[in-house]
Amino acid sequence: MQMETHSSTNEQYLPVTDLNKCEGKGVCAHVCLMNVLKVKPISPEQYASLPFCGKLKTVFNGGRKVQVVNPAKCLGCGLCVSACSQQAIQLIKV
Ligand code: SF4
Repeated sequence: MQMETHSSTNEQYLPVTDLNKCEGKGVCAHVCLMNVLKVKPISPEQYASLPFCGKLKTVFNGGRKVQVVNPAKCLGCGLCVSACSQQAIQLIKV
């Protein structure tokens, strides 16, 4: 089976995680065939930038969120976007 991607048209996409919405479950990272995403602890600066509800959610989720670790490998397939129940990932054109 061949997967059609945006990169086949020379367009490059990048997944962007909304750290306020992300619950760190990692379903998106699990479905990504290219290992673009990883659940890992957020930095103190990222934590400080969150609103109160986001900080509370972060504490309940052990301080971990999905983050982009291999941006150049993204195929733009959108599987991660579809997999997220919190609508926390968007694909942007770069
Ligand atoms: S768009 Fe596809 S390749 Fe890119 S991060 Fe999401 S699942 Fe991975």
